[in-house]
Amino acid sequence: MKVTTLGFDADDTLWENERFFKLTEERFTELLIDFAEPYHLREKLLAAERRNLKVYGFGIKGFTLSMVETAIEVTDERVPARVIEQILSAGREMHAHPVETLPFVRETLEQLAPDYRMVLITKGDLFDQERKLAASGLGELFDAIEIVSDKTAETYSRIFSEAGESPENAMMVGNSLKSDIVPAIAAGSWGVHIPHDLTWALEHADEPAKAKQYRRLNNVGEVPALLRQIM
Ligand SMILES: [Mg+2]
Repeated sequence: MKVTTLGFDADDTLWENERFFKLTEERFTELLIDFAEPYHLREKLLAAERRNLKVYGFGIKGFTLSMVETAIEVTDERVPARVIEQILSAGREMHAHPVETLPFVRETLEQLAPDYRMVLITKGDLFDQERKLAASGLGELFDAIEIVSDKTAETYSRIFSEAGESPENAMMVGNSLKSDIVPAIAAGSWGVHIPHDLTWALEHADEPAKAKQYRRLNNVGEVPALLRQIM
């Protein structure tokens, strides 16, 4: 089946994202250094994030509330209001972080856009994703923008059926095996994994190494060559 639609993940595929979470987490660790060991604190925070995903979904707001909950927990409810304020402030600052596109992204999207239906598929806070897309200046290269609450096989099936002829004519490119690759392949599409040095612990999954429609590339710049090779 000919690939006519390209789906791109945004965070840590087109631009840096996890780096800002890691920096905030370091700041959080320093704020609570008198109350908890860094390792213990990170474990507690991850548990809170996992628990809260079902309530708040993906994104900075849920992450901020998870930091507040963790601070209350590790201090046995004695966390100073000053520390809570600093956590909230760190969360607010994340909503203003600069958008740094990753190497090869702009030129590759410009090269592909005339020949493919281009769809950006991202999850997280709607407002924050819209801000980042606007700041990236990449918006006009996409035919459709999909900001979703989660990425499942059904999500890809729906989006690629609307956008292209069928999921079989689509290729999803992203840094998360769990969100971008495994469910896209399950929907019948190609899944092209571009690993990023920093990937959130909750985004890990086993590599679908045996799937015929799975490929791993080093960067977005290698996508055009892959498309030529599989056509
Ligand atoms: Mg990503």
